[in-house]
Amino acid sequence: MLDEFHYRRIQPDADLYGVVGNPVMHSLSPAMHNAGFAHRSLNAVYVPLQARDAEDFARFGRAMRMRGASITAPFKVAMMDRVDHVDALAAEVGAINTVHVKNGQWIGSNTDVHGFVTPLKGRMKLKGTRAAVLGAGGAARAVAVALKREGAKVRVCARRSQQAREVAALVGVQAGEYPPPAGTWDVLVNATSAGTAAGDPSPMEGVALDGEIVFDLIYAPSDTPLVSQARAAGCWTIGGIEMLIRQAERQFEIWTGAPPPENLFRHAAQSAFAQGVRS
Ligand code: NDP
Repeated sequence: MLDEFHYRRIQPDADLYGVVGNPVMHSLSPAMHNAGFAHRSLNAVYVPLQARDAEDFARFGRAMRMRGASITAPFKVAMMDRVDHVDALAAEVGAINTVHVKNGQWIGSNTDVHGFVTPLKGRMKLKGTRAAVLGAGGAARAVAVALKREGAKVRVCARRSQQAREVAALVGVQAGEYPPPAGTWDVLVNATSAGTAAGDPSPMEGVALDGEIVFDLIYAPSDTPLVSQARAAGCWTIGGIEMLIRQAERQFEIWTGAPPPENLFRHAAQSAFAQGVRS
């Protein structure tokens, strides 16, 4: 209450923000956004909100006159029908991860695209790059849209090939073999949950990693079997915490009009992570 939610600093009429999901109680997002509000001395607070379903949250959020929300699994698609307006990028992805309240209207947007592409753009030129995306869920869609917009040649590769074809068609890219064979990619992105649970094998087990960069969206654990495999194979690796931080910074900018100072969210997320907070 004191350290994370700044209970003594905020006033009874504080602007209310939160992250909605299920599960969500161990999210790193409150640590980041509350650090941002404190840095700006804003009378605002950000809390985890575990919801039964999207409707449960939509009613609560409107009744509480929330100012904004982060939307996480499993509500990113269902929440699209419960906002007043969806911006063009979120419509292209088919999912929202951010609600911003403007003049009483709920506006849905998607900062996962920005969050994913920012750490990658710092490392390589994406135009013309061959990218393989593992998985065909919500995150894979945001990643495929992000890469396509940067001019990469994208293939969606999933264990269920029909799902891969559907996502590829929706985004306007190609579907590919799962797992993608050696020599077919420069950037490999893991947008599956393979690696989250202890004992999970790498989704690329038994396949040579001969591309340049491997980006694993999973951030807990930070060293997934895929990241270890990629490092041993001499690839550059990027962990999911980079995307988590960048998508949150963009949300904060949408809500408050300016991004947080560089490294504020990184330090907040890393110290919450080190204290054993996850997800
Ligand atoms: P979804 O549940 O929507 O999709 C998961 C995808 O992974 C499905 O295609 C699923 O296939 C596939 N999959 C699951 N387990 C395996 C496995 N063992 N082997 C191969 N494929 C598998 O999840 P999301 O798209 O929302 O999230 C995917 C991952 O990305 C999660 O780990 C999540 O934590 C992470 N993520 C990280 C973010 C960040 O900021 N760093 C942001 C968003 C997501 P099937 O349908 O066959 O089960």
